[in-house]
Amino acid sequence: MKIFKFGGTSVGSAERMRALAGLINDGAPKIVVLSAMAGTTNALVEIANALHAKETGRANALIDALEKKYREVVAELYGAEKTLGRGGELVSFHFMELRSFTLGTFTGKEERKVLAGGELLSTALFHFYLEEKNIDSVLLPALDFMRIDENEEPDMEHIEANAAKELAKYPGKKLFITQGYICRNASGETDNLKRGGSDYTATILGAAIRAEEIQIWTDIDGMHNNDPRLVRNTRPIAELSFDEAAELAYFGAKILHPTCILPAQLRNIPVRLLNTMQPEARGTLITERSSGDDIKAVAAKDGITAIKIKSGRMLLAYGFLRAVFEIFERYKTPIDMIATSEVAVSLTIDSRTNLDAIVAELKGFCRVEVDDGLSIICVVGSFTAEKEGYALKIFEALKNIPIRMISYGGSENNVSVLVDTKLKQKALLALNQGLF
Ligand code: ASP
Ligand code: MG
Repeated sequence: MKIFKFGGTSVGSAERMRALAGLINDGAPKIVVLSAMAGTTNALVEIANALHAKETGRANALIDALEKKYREVVAELYGAEKTLGRGGELVSFHFMELRSFTLGTFTGKEERKVLAGGELLSTALFHFYLEEKNIDSVLLPALDFMRIDENEEPDMEHIEANAAKELAKYPGKKLFITQGYICRNASGETDNLKRGGSDYTATILGAAIRAEEIQIWTDIDGMHNNDPRLVRNTRPIAELSFDEAAELAYFGAKILHPTCILPAQLRNIPVRLLNTMQPEARGTLITERSSGDDIKAVAAKDGITAIKIKSGRMLLAYGFLRAVFEIFERYKTPIDMIATSEVAVSLTIDSRTNLDAIVAELKGFCRVEVDDGLSIICVVGSFTAEKEGYALKIFEALKNIPIRMISYGGSENNVSVLVDTKLKQKALLALNQGLF
């Protein structure tokens, strides 16, 4: 069994859904994980925001506009009276439910129900289409098996047991459709795996059923060796190791959800990134091994804040870093890059949510400077300790870019530098010229 995951643009219109049906209908056993139609989850977030703000008029206008879109999709997607009727009823049901949220109290719990609507609609509409075309398939409700625990981590035991149980109900069936992104939480309520989480559904489910392969289909032919939005002449990377792919996904290669590598890596299941618009393109294959190419790719992550911490007490002292890190831990704020000297430490974070509180606590025992508007530029490859010359190559390419921080040796797969975001594109271009 393979897992095929398709993102919002792959189900973004009636036309794309038809093309998708052609792509998956080859008789080979698979579970197809679908995102919401492109734009839907954003629209639902807006509706939820309006409801939180008690702007019922605005919420209703947004709901009307979204419903209109879905009515158009139904009219365009189906040919048969029967499916047109079923599609119409499905849309009526979902939008009636959505409108019911404008009447009562609206808390996080209701919001999560609202957000689940996109995937429930896309999968059901697609499934009706397959039925109309006499393509035998089963719609598996993700809420029957996908679950997160109290720490919002996938509850693998539950998922394994329940996915197997659901699949066992349909012996002989080959094509299954299910929702990405949505799940139940530890209290059994409808919840989700955070924005972009459909990739995560695909790898969690793939790991749970020990799939042969997990394919993530998007509208670009694999992970590229640089940001195609900012740099011309980028090319897809044919092979990556799990570690390299995880670094790239985290540092800005938008094509893959950063945490989604782990479940596949733990069970050693290959992940293939493919392009719906160009199904024959080779894409990127992510496995346990690296292809051995030294420098694979460059990616950048914006919205980085650097915190410089200085203290005379750090000199020859131990326990200082622990005191610093404990503060970040208490505010559940992950640290990305770190550079130390004998009397100072600089580190970066990508979330400013608890910045003021963190800085206030740090100021209790050291001097603190905060700097924002920064980007981490990350070079991914295999930089084992025995190999020489990489630092020179990278910094030669970056010789005209002021660098705030450097991290080399943190892992064998990543060399990172911190620059002003205004210089990001220049840095990416320079690295493209210097490295590839
Ligand atoms: N529909 C969700 C989102 O837009 C999940 C996904 O597409 O992966 O974030
Ligand atoms: Mg996505």
